[in-house]
Amino acid sequence: MPNIILVGFSYTGKSTVARLVARRLGWQAADTDEMVVAKAGKSIAEIFASDGEWLFRLLEKAAVSEACSRSNMVIATGGGVPVDRVNRRILHNSGIVVCLDAKPETIHARLRDSEQRNPSKHPRPLLADPDPLGAIQRLKASRQQFYGEAQITVATDGLSSQQVAEEVVCAYQALTQAPRAPGDRRPAADFMVTTETQSYPGYVGWGILDTVGKRMREAKIAGRAHVIADRAVYGLHGERLMAALGEAGYAPGVFALEPGEPTKSMASAMEIYTWLAERRAERNDVVISFGGGMAGDLAGFVAATYVRGMPLVHVPTSLLAMVDASIGGKVAINLPVGKNLVGAFYQPKLVLSDTELLQTLSKRELAAGWAEVIKHALILDAGLFAYIDENREQLLAMDPILATEVIRRSAAIKADVVSQDERETKGLRILLNYGHTVGHALEAATGFDGLLHGEAVAIGMMAAGRISVGTGRLPQDALEEQGRILKAFGLPVTAPSVDLDVVRSAMQLDKKVSGKSIRWIVLEEIGRSTTDASVPMELVEEAIRSVTPR
Ligand code: NAD
Repeated sequence: MPNIILVGFSYTGKSTVARLVARRLGWQAADTDEMVVAKAGKSIAEIFASDGEWLFRLLEKAAVSEACSRSNMVIATGGGVPVDRVNRRILHNSGIVVCLDAKPETIHARLRDSEQRNPSKHPRPLLADPDPLGAIQRLKASRQQFYGEAQITVATDGLSSQQVAEEVVCAYQALTQAPRAPGDRRPAADFMVTTETQSYPGYVGWGILDTVGKRMREAKIAGRAHVIADRAVYGLHGERLMAALGEAGYAPGVFALEPGEPTKSMASAMEIYTWLAERRAERNDVVISFGGGMAGDLAGFVAATYVRGMPLVHVPTSLLAMVDASIGGKVAINLPVGKNLVGAFYQPKLVLSDTELLQTLSKRELAAGWAEVIKHALILDAGLFAYIDENREQLLAMDPILATEVIRRSAAIKADVVSQDERETKGLRILLNYGHTVGHALEAATGFDGLLHGEAVAIGMMAAGRISVGTGRLPQDALEEQGRILKAFGLPVTAPSVDLDVVRSAMQLDKKVSGKSIRWIVLEEIGRSTTDASVPMELVEEAIRSVTPR
């Protein structure tokens, strides 16, 4: 779901309303002014006095970008934030922008009131004027065109903060939800991916497989459906999928794939091309993937290349595919020399994840998926991490409501990241590779039959966490917390049987000493991550040794 961003002049109640709206939706609140003060270690008035407005604006921009990169956020922004063009783009990419408006007289009265109640608090620097009402009128008029770009404006004069919060929630829901049956409060889509080239919805729900045809019609997908399905998944749930597609008039046919990673090959792609040609598939038909990430990547690759591109719908059935592989448009096949070496960025038209199907997924595969969910929380969402920790038992038991909620939030994180950085060029999408440097090396060292991807990533996250501690960023107890939760979800945190030298050579550490260094994804705290390309080799060695004990 898009974030809610509150803009508007000072003293329109943004900070209080952000907290109330966040509480109401079960989201997190952020306040860019408070983030700046925390970062600088001094008040806004002191920053203006000692360093000047330029530093304040710089810190403010960093705060805006950080808050907007998270999901499920209600963000109160400083009064001057939307004046900056880059800030405006970041705000609008992150969610629905809501302006809290008030008459200059109301703002002036609130300012006076606040000064009387809290005389020690300095007035906002821009309002420190002998004629505050005049200053407010002039400044507000000069910013009005930027506030006017908000999708929603709420006039706050005469309303309590609680009433304003209610208005914001109602307007937000009206804007993001399609009309539906009375009492049904589910949003129109559970997440949206919006890249420079495409925008598409994602649905995550318990028992929603039967709605796939209807959702495809809503997305204006026409033609016939060519389903490319994992044979095992198709055997369990295929009938329901085909019935839903048939009822919606898609005349579906199916190509069944042998389960397992070796199927993600050029040879399989060739067989599917032949099948599509025999079925006289056309460019305005649709390819549907049905299975885990293997089926999704292969079907996506075929859809991207057959007749120079066909519409694609992902119906992921493994947890890993629901929160990761089906979102973001990476499609690929493996070559004998390496995984995912031939592929493309090719976004689907729609993603539909029925979490009920996870009931038939093996415990081990489920755990591997939880590794990715935990990873999303670790790198970008402390609130989600706490939620997973608190509800661990219910999640492990696949409680329909709680598990679906966590999967929805995790999928939305991935959707947000790829919306902002589709091709991994802006330094955001790369954060999703937390744990992957060592994880990939472990996968390579153990081969297709060894560790599952999620298991390797879990161990890799422990190594990356060790590096985060060693570089002085992450407290040791946070690393222990990470290990505790991974273990609780049935994931390994070490790989004792793996040969250290094989891991070293898979990471090409020998070459990297003299050549390019590795860009590590490291945690600054739970829920916040960054990259570091200058990790000392001794620390890397120590981290790898810590996860491959003898
Ligand atoms: P997978 O597709 O091989 O599925 C794992 C196993 O689970 C298979 O045996 C499958 O038959 C079974 N399965 C799936 N859903 C089931 C269900 N509901 N009930 C019973 N069994 C079920 O593996 P995966 O872990 O889903 O995905 C791994 C693949 O995804 C790899 O090829 C990896 O490269 C790729 N991947 C791609 C991206 C991306 O961005 N495109 C991201 C991560 C991983």
